[in-house]
Amino acid sequence: MEQLSARVRGLSPSGTIAMNQRARALRESGVDVIDLTVGEPDFPTPQAVREAAKAAIDEGHNRYTPVAGYNDLREAVSRKLARENGLSYPAARVMASAGAKQCVSNALLALVDPGDEVIVPSPHWVSYTELVKLADGRPVSLPTLASEGYKLRPEALESAIGERTKALILCSPCNPTGAVYSRAELEALALVLERHPRVWVISDEVYEHIDYTGLPHASPASIAGIAERTVLVNGVSKAYAMTGWRIGYLAGAAPLVKACIDLQGQMTTNASSIAQRAALAALESGTALIGGMQAAFRRRRELVMGLARALPGVETLEPQGAFYIFPDMSAYFGKSAGRSAVRGSSELAEYLLEDARVATVPGSAFGDDRCLRISFASADERLQAALGRIGESLARLR
Ligand code: PMP
Ligand code: GLU
Repeated sequence: MEQLSARVRGLSPSGTIAMNQRARALRESGVDVIDLTVGEPDFPTPQAVREAAKAAIDEGHNRYTPVAGYNDLREAVSRKLARENGLSYPAARVMASAGAKQCVSNALLALVDPGDEVIVPSPHWVSYTELVKLADGRPVSLPTLASEGYKLRPEALESAIGERTKALILCSPCNPTGAVYSRAELEALALVLERHPRVWVISDEVYEHIDYTGLPHASPASIAGIAERTVLVNGVSKAYAMTGWRIGYLAGAAPLVKACIDLQGQMTTNASSIAQRAALAALESGTALIGGMQAAFRRRRELVMGLARALPGVETLEPQGAFYIFPDMSAYFGKSAGRSAVRGSSELAEYLLEDARVATVPGSAFGDDRCLRISFASADERLQAALGRIGESLARLR
């Protein structure tokens, strides 16, 4: 439609959300679909957090809040970053937003001028490249290899940086690959970035607490040389099963945070007051309420990996964090089950939705058309049934 801006005409809808909506519509029409699309914990929000929200309603938290979030919430983020990450951010350098997604978006709008390049190691979360484009920037996808644990190598980073490079987006633990960067690996990338002082790092750490490595979470914000240029993004969605509440936060250099707050003041004013009170309770509880969920994700990872490894022709790297597997299923491309041949990840996801009634997200949405993303944030029995059905449908492809 000509009247729409070039900005939205060039925008791809979110691949994760699109498949999730399709699965939802099929389920509502009575089809027994197992939805392994969207990455969100299937647990209820912890009781204490729900109580805090109910109290907030009764206490009359019905007005606009400060644009950057309630002061006590910003203080709680500041304490969380000190306690769990050894980072020192005064509350003034913290902003609460409607989700980590809005934080990434604000950071990009604050940093990127038209034509600036933003390096996005690939496979990457669906929204990064689109948000860069919305900021009139140019996403530069930098492929990483399964054989290297899907991690960006310093030499690859060095060769991708050019005159227009403005930022690098790092996501660890990574959605969709499950890659987790060690401190040493981040230090090696930091050495490259030290030679390019214009380049910022947007560090998406929303899966911090879903990490199977047993090592302390490493943040670029803790590495001298790049700490000042790092925008740390995190939130309560994944750690506390609060995706629908929509609270995330960012922390960074004072001028950058001020710019993000100014943007937010014009765009959304503030994140929901009630959800902010709930997020405050969540953050103040530290990790006390999340052990059960972490143990369940760990168990499900074993379960899903066992089932996926048994699928012939499917190559799956064991995720080190987050709650997805990202198997390479390209061995099935060119095969068919009586109809036209499956030619790529979209058609394979489509086939599995129709034949196995299991909804997954095509790897093409993440920049790798050989793979499918399967979320294991689902009940064990559902996972077992889903992988069983996928196996049967794959076996019909010849
Ligand atoms: N970053 C990544 C890598 C994600 O997977 C998600 C999932 N929603 C987000 C950011 C956004 O999280 P939020 O719900 O806080 O907006
Ligand atoms: N981050 C989750 C996912 O990748 C939620 C959906 C989204 O925001 O993209 O599935």
